Amino acid sequence: MRRRCIVHIDIDAFFASVEKLLDPSLEGKAIIVGGLPHERGVASTASYEARKYGVHSGMPLQKAYQLCPNGIFLRGNHRVYASFSRNFHRILSRYTPDMEMASLDEAYLDLSRCRALYPSFSQTVTQIKQTVEEKLKLSVSVGVGPNKILAKLATNRAKPGGMVEVKPGCEESFLKELPIEALPGIGSKARAELDMLNIRKIKDLWGLPREALRTLFGLRGEEIRLQSHGIDDRPLESSGEQKSISRETTFLKDIWERRLLLAHLAYLCDRLSLALRKERCFSHIIEVKVRWSDFKTEVRRRLLVNPVQEMDDIYRIARELFLELFQGARLSLRLVGVKASDLVRSRTLSLFEPHSLHKERLGSAVFEVREKYGFGALLTAREKMLEDVYSFTKERGFILKTASLTK
Ligand SMILES: [Mg+2]
Repeated sequence: MRRRCIVHIDIDAFFASVEKLLDPSLEGKAIIVGGLPHERGVASTASYEARKYGVHSGMPLQKAYQLCPNGIFLRGNHRVYASFSRNFHRILSRYTPDMEMASLDEAYLDLSRCRALYPSFSQTVTQIKQTVEEKLKLSVSVGVGPNKILAKLATNRAKPGGMVEVKPGCEESFLKELPIEALPGIGSKARAELDMLNIRKIKDLWGLPREALRTLFGLRGEEIRLQSHGIDDRPLESSGEQKSISRETTFLKDIWERRLLLAHLAYLCDRLSLALRKERCFSHIIEVKVRWSDFKTEVRRRLLVNPVQEMDDIYRIARELFLELFQGARLSLRLVGVKASDLVRSRTLSLFEPHSLHKERLGSAVFEVREKYGFGALLTAREKMLEDVYSFTKERGFILKTASLTK
């Protein structure tokens, strides 16, 4: 197979850089976007000035505050970031149709099919970088390689503001000295375990037998083995066709019992979370829809700086939105629904930070079993409970139809 030419391009400290652009007085300051110091949740971006204090994306806000008490904490504005992201997408899509937006500020371009158009790849890549920086007024880092993993690791090496290419024949020398946590999916907890085994660099993985990798990384063992050698044949997944996923139920008899409605909402959130996992998407917007017995429809939505996929996160937001709508309700409901939109392929923050590692692993293990043996093969206690609520409502003749929409 001919060597592919994959370019990975990533905006440096995206949210924090946009904030600086909007308010130049923030220039040179330690900025943490994601929430205020006392709030629950994690930092979604830290400016390079804040990173000097050890703050990084995915870190709980309270910890970020301990490390950097003089930092400027901002809740962030997803709407503004999304508009920058759309411009970013627009600029990049002029160069090739083979493109994957991996998140709001990160994209892969496959220039392999455009060889005839671009006699010099490095010149083209330099031009892409300059154009993005001029038009968006934001600094970007660029990595070039024969596949997604090498291009992404090259970008990490190039940060901030640089460009790194992994040339043919240089793959192993590029990889061997990189720290083990450079590979996606290896968070600080896994790193600590590997450290005890004297595995600190990517080259330390090379000598390990497959079974050992499987023991260490579970289902991801084989993928990590291949990635440690710079082998990755994943195609680009062009995004954009799918704008939203929703789940909603129309009741045959109108329901006014709050607890029953909330239980049903939880059931829908669970289904929605599964659909997102299946599509490997995270959602920046959660919306709850209700239709009252007089057929009036109301929606409430929330924009999220940190996109969500897990049931717990979706339900927490959906529940709040639902209760806002349902507060002081005089009528009963004939429909309840939940929708995820503004979907991205990955989160800006690391998925495998310690606080989410367990949940994430459990989630993907459950998902794999279901892919193989069907949904009913494995139900968590909560799902069993939600299934029971659903059957109960259905048996009592409450449910008219449940719809799954993907647009
Ligand atoms: Mg970035």
